[in-house]
Amino acid sequence: MIWSIKSGCSGTAAVSKKDFFKKFKSGVVIENGTVYDVAKLVKRYRITRTTKRKYPINTTTGDKMNKFYLSSRSVNNLQESHRLLRILANMAIAATSHIDFGVVTGYRCKNDQNYAYYKNKSKVKFPNSKHNKTPSEAIDVLAYKNRKPTYDMKYYIYLAGLFDGLFEIALKMYREETNDLRDYVLRWGGNWDQDGELLTDQKFDDGMHFEIVRG
Ligand SMILES: [Zn+2]
Repeated sequence: MIWSIKSGCSGTAAVSKKDFFKKFKSGVVIENGTVYDVAKLVKRYRITRTTKRKYPINTTTGDKMNKFYLSSRSVNNLQESHRLLRILANMAIAATSHIDFGVVTGYRCKNDQNYAYYKNKSKVKFPNSKHNKTPSEAIDVLAYKNRKPTYDMKYYIYLAGLFDGLFEIALKMYREETNDLRDYVLRWGGNWDQDGELLTDQKFDDGMHFEIVRG
């Protein structure tokens, strides 16, 4: 099936349904003259976001390997993100022993950002999000519970602790690689004011969101 698209960052294009969800995160789709919201299409076609995550097969034993890894989608999203976040996410996926995650957002263009704002997934319009920097100074992660995506905050608190614990060593590695000796701190969307209180002292909980701030 070919859809005519007016979506995301690329304007209008004809694209197959299969490619569509790889390329476009938000916007509208025009199918036979009817306009659909992407979020509704995701529901209608039960797109992979709600299906089980696949793990590689051990070629010797034929068993599914339970080693967590970043998918090509995650790698692509990290490609457009700040190198420090890229290092951190790669360290985190190697270090996590129980909870799997993917990187579902890196950079957000104007259309994507304003769509996120309209959907109440972001509190700011373009270009005021850390996702709008080039490279993106924010990433959104998606946690998996038994290989299925979960939005249960418990899982994001685990990931926040994991990312937080690895941040200093990631920063050290980043400095060695880039000679950028400026100070950075990691800010999680479950603790915007970075005090000792999680979630309960803020109005907008964004457990999936991690960003870097110059210290
Ligand atoms: Zn975010």
